[in-house]
Amino acid sequence: MNDFHIPDPSFKFRPDYKWPEPGNERNCPADPTVTWQLNEDNPAYFGKPWWCPKCQFQFSEEDLTQDVNCPNNGTARKAP
Ligand SMILES: [Zn+2]
Repeated sequence: MNDFHIPDPSFKFRPDYKWPEPGNERNCPADPTVTWQLNEDNPAYFGKPWWCPKCQFQFSEEDLTQDVNCPNNGTARKAP
């Protein structure tokens, strides 16, 4: 008995992120003067919807239900 499983390539890599409506805006929690970029909901794009150009980091709406911290926010900088 042959039971080949052929994966559907269109189904393979793209996580099912909830995509914000175009026109939504968010600011970096570490630096409110930085506006996050909302990426296009494009089948060829496998990343998350939000991009922080300052922290070089992606976020999904799911991430935003938790405490968001841009990873390179510089708040850990110590005075000499
Ligand atoms: Zn940021």
